[in-house]
Amino acid sequence: MPAGRHQRPRKRSAAARAASPREAPPPGRRAERGGPGSARPGTRKSVYFFGEGRAEGRVEMRELLGGKGANLAEMTRLGIPVPPGFTLSTEVCARYLAGGRRLPADVWAEVEGALARVERVLGLGFGDRAAPLLVSVRSGARVSMPGMMDTVLNLGLNQRTVEGVARGASERFAWDSYRRFVQMYGDVVLGVPHERFEEHLDDLKRARGVRLDTELEAADLRALVGTYLETVEALAGRSFPQDPRAQLRGAIGAVFGSWRNERARRYRRMHGIPEDWGTAVTVQAMVFGNMGDDCATGVAFTRNPSTGERLFYGEWLKNAQGEDVVAGIRTPQPINEDNRSHAQAGLPTLQAEMPGPYRELVRIYKRLERHYRDMQDIEFTIQCGRLWMLQTRNGKRTVRAAVKIAVDMARERLISRDESLMRVDAGKLEQLLHPTLDPAAERDVLAKGLPASPGAATGVIVLTADEAEMRGKAGQKVVLVRTETSPEDIHGMGAAEGILTARGGMTSHAAVVARGIGRCCVVGCGDLRIDRQRGEIHLGERTLRAGDPITIDGSTGEVISGSVDTVTPELDPEFGTLMRWADGRRRLRVRTNADTPNDAKVAREFGAEGIGLCRTEHMFFEADRILAVRQMILAADRGQRMAALDKLLPMQRGDFVGIFEAMQGLPVTIRLLDPPLHEFLPHGEEEVAEVARALGRDTAEIRARIDALSEFNPMLGHRGCRLGITFPEIYRMQVRAIAEAACQVAASGARVRPEIMIPLVAHVGELSRLRALCRDEIRAVQGEHGRRFAYAIGTMIEVPRAVLVADAIARHADFFSFGTNDLTQMTYALSRDDAGKFLSDYIEQGILDEDPFVSIDEAGIGELIRMGVEKGRRTRPGLKVGICGEHGGDAKSVAFCARIGLDYASCSPYRVPVARLAAAQAAIAAERTGGRRRAGRGTRR
Ligand code: PEP
Ligand code: MG
Repeated sequence: MPAGRHQRPRKRSAAARAASPREAPPPGRRAERGGPGSARPGTRKSVYFFGEGRAEGRVEMRELLGGKGANLAEMTRLGIPVPPGFTLSTEVCARYLAGGRRLPADVWAEVEGALARVERVLGLGFGDRAAPLLVSVRSGARVSMPGMMDTVLNLGLNQRTVEGVARGASERFAWDSYRRFVQMYGDVVLGVPHERFEEHLDDLKRARGVRLDTELEAADLRALVGTYLETVEALAGRSFPQDPRAQLRGAIGAVFGSWRNERARRYRRMHGIPEDWGTAVTVQAMVFGNMGDDCATGVAFTRNPSTGERLFYGEWLKNAQGEDVVAGIRTPQPINEDNRSHAQAGLPTLQAEMPGPYRELVRIYKRLERHYRDMQDIEFTIQCGRLWMLQTRNGKRTVRAAVKIAVDMARERLISRDESLMRVDAGKLEQLLHPTLDPAAERDVLAKGLPASPGAATGVIVLTADEAEMRGKAGQKVVLVRTETSPEDIHGMGAAEGILTARGGMTSHAAVVARGIGRCCVVGCGDLRIDRQRGEIHLGERTLRAGDPITIDGSTGEVISGSVDTVTPELDPEFGTLMRWADGRRRLRVRTNADTPNDAKVAREFGAEGIGLCRTEHMFFEADRILAVRQMILAADRGQRMAALDKLLPMQRGDFVGIFEAMQGLPVTIRLLDPPLHEFLPHGEEEVAEVARALGRDTAEIRARIDALSEFNPMLGHRGCRLGITFPEIYRMQVRAIAEAACQVAASGARVRPEIMIPLVAHVGELSRLRALCRDEIRAVQGEHGRRFAYAIGTMIEVPRAVLVADAIARHADFFSFGTNDLTQMTYALSRDDAGKFLSDYIEQGILDEDPFVSIDEAGIGELIRMGVEKGRRTRPGLKVGICGEHGGDAKSVAFCARIGLDYASCSPYRVPVARLAAAQAAIAAERTGGRRRAGRGTRR
């Protein structure tokens, strides 16, 4: 059977998209030069000093000074202890790279000036033999690009200054710093591969019979420096620069140059960072956490970044350098008792070991959080008992932490409620509602597909829906692995923990159904091949057998060998609070796509305000009715067809009663039958024989009828309202079932609000006829039952022609619901079932930013939606308009729907919270722009 009506495309991973920090050009770039950092009129200031409570930069200048430089300046202004230094702006980077990689003379003059200020503040001299100033030279773009560009530490050391450092600290420390410097400078500036240095270090350790660098003595390190200097001379073809100013020039140039290295370029491509932003370079006095036992270094978060708890959270190491904390050689220690992990049992805290600096650190972190009004990620060093802050930035956090921190901060009056709503990435909310893989667990990733429905699932491989159901009922956890799924597999999908398919995309059958029932799902896994005969699956080179354990991660698309522990997320009370706040701000209503009372109930718990799409065909596959459905389709005449429909009527009525009851008076949009009939037909000989028996006909005759129903292009074939035109009795039966169910529920005193939706309308004549059919049937039922109920009859807008004639169509429609899955497919001429094979190339080559089946293509499909709304409302002002394609649960698309004035978005139950928050964010954003526009008008006047 063809996959049915659903497809596959590949997109950039959710993580990559989420991390993509494409920024709008910040306002007032020019204005930045007018601040305290501005040079004399007419000259271009390039270097911004900070130190001793004064700074020429400030936090708003991150575009010019990079995140690091701007925040160091800001901390300095706040009176926080920051080693003094200066930042060369991103504009210098552009000049450096454009000007043949030479530092312009005017810039160097400013560097000299700033350097002199640093010397004065510290009472040290750059290159001074007795009291030498050492500096770090670091990159810093306006958004963090962790580890992508270069850094040089301990700059200023040479054969003379090393002696000064030795006198001030210790011999061993001085030579260790020097050898680290030669290695780093040799690698970054002079292009000597760092492995060459590592080899010498390893040789030395072997010769001395020691394992750790720390076991080497001062004399060893001194000798090692000699070897390193010779290595540089041999491999770089020049001697190591002894003049600190030459060192500094070289390092600044190399760090600017590292903006263009391959690593950084790749990172920028992945995260959509423009090439022309450039990096700033910060030159800062070194402070050392490795000068002895009254020294330390650490990193901390002002709140717990994984839970959001308001606890100071961090790690530190005594007598260590920054990289030791992250290198994993020594176990970092907890900074206080509040966040001691199991592995850190017995390790002393900073609070206990260095109470003075700890107290100061606490005072500073609180200050920083208040000032930045956000959770901070900070780096600090304690040198000889004195605390120095080296970095602060808004900390990365899990979505759980983001929700808690946003709500807590609003309650603490650090931020407004609107700000708290804007701080949470709506698209990530769904992650909170499903189990995830234990982040600490090992993963043997076998392949990757599209992350179609989030969550994680572990279970044994089953290859058929029947087996999934059988084993599932027996209490076994299973993952259903199929080439693709079809409506026939629904029972197995429901019984499985997760679903993995080789084909299909983000609106494929598997993706849509899994999302609806809250199952984890990976689709379009190109490396997956299924051998049903042998009961095997092949994932690239690896072969697994049915019954083997497998794990899938529906948030990343990873397919993993064996069982991996999952963790069930905890929903903090702050989640409910944020959702309530969102509801108070949004205008767009949020409904759900649900086909069963159970889905409807789940969706209501997530806050759905009605059903926007009930796909009735999903009801046709229930085991107790598929035979009757087949009888109906294969009937030889109207009499046989009516007999089959009579069997289906009470079953459908029962379905609708259940749904109306679950929705308790909220609107329920029921779509009449949509898929091509052949999707329901039997394939196996046994099933064909069963239908033949039931209809009293022979199997050959049934086979012939099945063949006759097959279509070359079912998506554009006999489906949607075309079925209602050809077989009006099918639609009549469905409408009767809806109306009878409504009467039954209304009789119990409950409110019902059915909305009947006609699919795939392209011509006004289709809708006018079918509307009359629906209306007549409803009136008949109401007459029979002597009961009235309010109802609406509307249409899906999912064919481009329907948009073009939407003004005419609106005359016969009480509402429009945009079916953006089909609208995208038909407008783009992009098959939902096949696009996955090539769409990834479009995204990789940058033709498309995103899969148009995931996020509405605003320029194309979005324009059609606008036109449809406008034309429809021109005929019928106040026409209710919604969206029910998969885009209704995509945060960006929901924002678009809110912007263009739709009344509701309808999405799968687990995405209802995403839509609620996205709608609130859109309302806030609109108000802000409206406000700005009004303010703008005000000033002009
Ligand atoms: C659509 O086309 O957007 C839609 C909701 O219908 P389906 O996905 O069932 O074709
Ligand atoms: Mg459709």
